[in-house]
Amino acid sequence: MAKIRERSLGLGSQCAFTFLGTGAGEGVPIVGCDCDICYSVERSSFTERGWRTRSCALLDVGCKSILLDCGPDIRTQLLNVRTIRRLHSSLYSKTSPYSFSGQRESFSDTSNQEKESNGIETGAISEIFLPDEIDYVLLTHWNFDHVGGLIELNHTWRPDRLASKEKIELLLTEHAQQGYRSLEGSLFRTSAPDGTKRASEDVEDVFIYTVVEPYKCYKLFTEHIDERLAYSVEVIPIETYHTPDSVAFAIYITRYEDLGDETGDKNSNSLKESRKEIVYLTDSPYEMPEKTREIIKDSDLLIMDCTFYKNVEEKGFKYHMDTEDCIRLVRETNPKMAYVTHISHRNLEYDDLIDLFGDMRNLGVAYDGLRFELF
Ligand SMILES: [Zn+2]
Ligand SMILES: [Zn+2]
Repeated sequence: MAKIRERSLGLGSQCAFTFLGTGAGEGVPIVGCDCDICYSVERSSFTERGWRTRSCALLDVGCKSILLDCGPDIRTQLLNVRTIRRLHSSLYSKTSPYSFSGQRESFSDTSNQEKESNGIETGAISEIFLPDEIDYVLLTHWNFDHVGGLIELNHTWRPDRLASKEKIELLLTEHAQQGYRSLEGSLFRTSAPDGTKRASEDVEDVFIYTVVEPYKCYKLFTEHIDERLAYSVEVIPIETYHTPDSVAFAIYITRYEDLGDETGDKNSNSLKESRKEIVYLTDSPYEMPEKTREIIKDSDLLIMDCTFYKNVEEKGFKYHMDTEDCIRLVRETNPKMAYVTHISHRNLEYDDLIDLFGDMRNLGVAYDGLRFELF
């Protein structure tokens, strides 16, 4: 069935990555916490980069939307991307301040909003990305800050899906499946006085799921943008030592472009193929299986757990990384670009993290709403 979607597929909106949330389990600031970080962030404007909702990201490939985890802030996050960025379109970068060619603009340019919009192409409102229906959710593990918004997806506007009975596909591990099963029956609206079901919606009507195994490759889809351009997406779950069978995801996006006669050489192969590897590594300690480390190596984009500032082991939080772990991991695995996310109030504020990573050309600090094109 043809999808009726209003999303613009204007230039620059075909394949993009968006950080919807970049905070650790409680977000930043934490309600009621009066530590220096929370105190300072709570008194700053909502648009400041210290405000962090729970970690979540969105990969946008043509008309397909893939969520990476689905925490309890999902509704606000999707609305923020749709609404706040539309209102502040001058701040909305179609391109990253960081390029995948390995060149990064100076940090002073990226920490200042006026300077950031200077020289970076910003999207016209009609071309701004507006996520609507979610097609896939890749779940890293069954912790509340990563799955607490799943049921909320039932409250997004899904006319196409309801008409076609198309469901949102979850990819989850065996352990997460047990958590998911506990949701069954939770969407029934038993509001009739006699307790009978009023609407026929249960989690099974909204989701289908695939239990994934580490290090196996799962093909999600091939998306044809037009006659000459298509993308395909494959994912490999990779083990992490965070919770029982928690995983990170290595995501491979292949772009196929038919150059036609443009090359001018009739004998040349006119099909151009390029590939990007994105690794979404949250949550994870620095220790990880060797196989995982192998897959992470030389990725195009590495996104890392950076819950703490320093001495994560000494503090007894050995299931996450700190800033030193992240620096080590970037040096060892050599990604073209890396970002830290899942940042807690036990870490530094945004500007101080920027200063800390200042001399590393391929390590940046994510913030809620950061979005960039992948090709
Ligand atoms: Zn987490
Ligand atoms: Zn705090």
